[in-house]
Amino acid sequence: MTYEFGEEIGLDTLLQHYPSLKEVIDLTVNHTVWRKRHCLNMIASENVMSPLAMLAYMNDMMHRYAEGKPYKRFYQGLQYVDALEVKAMEIMGELLETKYVDLRPISGTTANATAFRTFTKPGDKACVAPVQAGAHVSHTRFGTLGALGIEQIELPFSLEEWNIDVDKAVKMIEEVKPKIVTLGGSLYIFPHPTKEIAEAAHAVGAKVIHDVAHVLGLVVGKVWENPLKLGADVITSSTHKTFPGPQGGLFATRLEEDYKEMGKVVFPMFVSNHHLHRLAAMAVTGIEMKLWGEDYARQIVANAKELAAQLAAEGFKVVMESKGYTSSHQVIVDVAELGRGTKIAKMLEEANIIVNKNMLPYDRPEDVKDPSGLRIGTQEITRWGMKKDEMKEIAKFMRMVVIDKKDPKEVAKMVSEFRKNFMEVQYGFKITREDEVRLLKIMLHAEAF
Ligand SMILES: *Cc1c(COP(=O)(O)O)cnc(C)c1O
Repeated sequence: MTYEFGEEIGLDTLLQHYPSLKEVIDLTVNHTVWRKRHCLNMIASENVMSPLAMLAYMNDMMHRYAEGKPYKRFYQGLQYVDALEVKAMEIMGELLETKYVDLRPISGTTANATAFRTFTKPGDKACVAPVQAGAHVSHTRFGTLGALGIEQIELPFSLEEWNIDVDKAVKMIEEVKPKIVTLGGSLYIFPHPTKEIAEAAHAVGAKVIHDVAHVLGLVVGKVWENPLKLGADVITSSTHKTFPGPQGGLFATRLEEDYKEMGKVVFPMFVSNHHLHRLAAMAVTGIEMKLWGEDYARQIVANAKELAAQLAAEGFKVVMESKGYTSSHQVIVDVAELGRGTKIAKMLEEANIIVNKNMLPYDRPEDVKDPSGLRIGTQEITRWGMKKDEMKEIAKFMRMVVIDKKDPKEVAKMVSEFRKNFMEVQYGFKITREDEVRLLKIMLHAEAF
């Protein structure tokens, strides 16, 4: 068959004749159906947008360029983009209770780069939350901090509290006199002591950057303290972990002057165009969070606590029972005695239970390839509508695979059957299938509304 340009042709016929195209479409569809229909997605850094937010994301802004900030651009054609960016910033500002929000970082890492570059010069010192206790790679010499030539000094950690050791950290900050202190992390079950650290940092003239990538949804849902209200100067974040928006980043500040300084750094140093189609999806998700974010955040944490308790009841070693296991969306399980992280995460994947292996504070750096922990997040399963009863079921599925050594393929079938009851995103807008198609046609072909 030869296919004339412009000819309309059925998708099946097309795929039959172009094997590479078929491969591309098949991989994409298979991924989508597997992860969205059959899996229990419990990677703590992921989430799903509502159908309306996804449709808003599909807009023509993905093709356009904007450099600079709203109404001060280097390109024409941006009248709607300018207004939308301002609106999205306003919505996020209300949620974060500050006027100073910038949505230009295209990821959490870009937001961190912006903060670090604004407040330090190469050779300066940064005190950061300890890596083995969950600081993000961007906070370290191996990541953004190192790339900017900033010296990484780890704050002391208390394993009993599973948190930064406040007294020792305050002493360290007084001695080291860093330019910045970073808080927050990727393994984050209890809030870091922002208030005490901010007092010590400010006394030596350091800025406090609290990275809320993991817990942004909990902050806007008011179940996790907003670091800006406790003295942090800046928050940096991803927008797609507990906050169920499009993949991207943001920063927000307490003070106008810091906001202005960071605004001069993010562009032109770390973004030129900032992936404009995110803005509509961010705004839709922000509105959803204003309406339902508090219920959502409460349920995420209730589910995490319940999942932890149920996993412990099934025989798993869940960390920090003494403090109620967790105050966030994360549950941390030590699987060292069950076969270690790599093997256990793989076994669970075969059963359609998607989690990740994770370093625990007492692991050695060389354990990174096979750490002793699993990190489990409840934010996405909560968005799919699961509640306490479902946590018990999930703990049982995990026990079947990891402890009873049941064939993971058999468990996969059960998991997939279980997932069938949770196919609609909650805490977000629902529109009719007809209206979904109507919006899709607009996005694809610019048909009139
Ligand atoms: C995920 C994460 C980031 C990086 O976010 P990206 O959007 O993936 O760049 C930064 N900081 C922390 C603490 C994270 O967990």
